Amino acid sequence: SVPKVAIIGRPNVGKSSLFNWLARRRLAIVDDYSGVTRDRMTTLIEHDDRFFELTDTGGMGVVDDDNLTEDVVRQIEMAITSADIILFVVDIQTGLMPLDVTVAERLRGIERPVILVANKADQPHQDIAAEEFQKLGRGHIIRVSSTQNRHRDDLLELIVDRL
Ligand code: GDP
Ligand code: MG
Repeated sequence: SVPKVAIIGRPNVGKSSLFNWLARRRLAIVDDYSGVTRDRMTTLIEHDDRFFELTDTGGMGVVDDDNLTEDVVRQIEMAITSADIILFVVDIQTGLMPLDVTVAERLRGIERPVILVANKADQPHQDIAAEEFQKLGRGHIIRVSSTQNRHRDDLLELIVDRL
């Protein structure tokens, strides 16, 4: 079966933007969870003749300020039960936030590959700001910009290398 990759992270880091950006060469919509959201959240992606199924796990159901933690916990549970690789997205422009630390703590015992994606690195001078995310203890950090189209191929390469 096709390997599964899940996108997780606190609200507003750009998970859905990243999903749509990576899905640019989308071949098929394999599931649209139509009962939960109007957005299509799972898509099949091809890179270098390798295929994987990408899922945007965020924003499932209503999220308000009181249950942000509940939302990330739900994302992580879903990723743990269904993903082979986890893309943990953070925002290089806001920097490290307490909820990022919550996500990292929840991921701590998980053996499967986690790629730390520092999104919103719109310009090269912003790349240095990703250093502080080393504190999350998740090894390799890749800087990308979904809106400025930076390092898309590098990210896809990292993913397929781990399939
Ligand atoms: P989500 O809540 O994690 O799914 O985040 P969204 O994908 O909804 O994005 C939240 C906000 O961040 C939106 O206003 C996006 O346009 C913005 N955003 C997403 N990716 C980037 C990026 O690479 N650079 C910048 N500057 N803004 C971005
Ligand atoms: Mg979203």
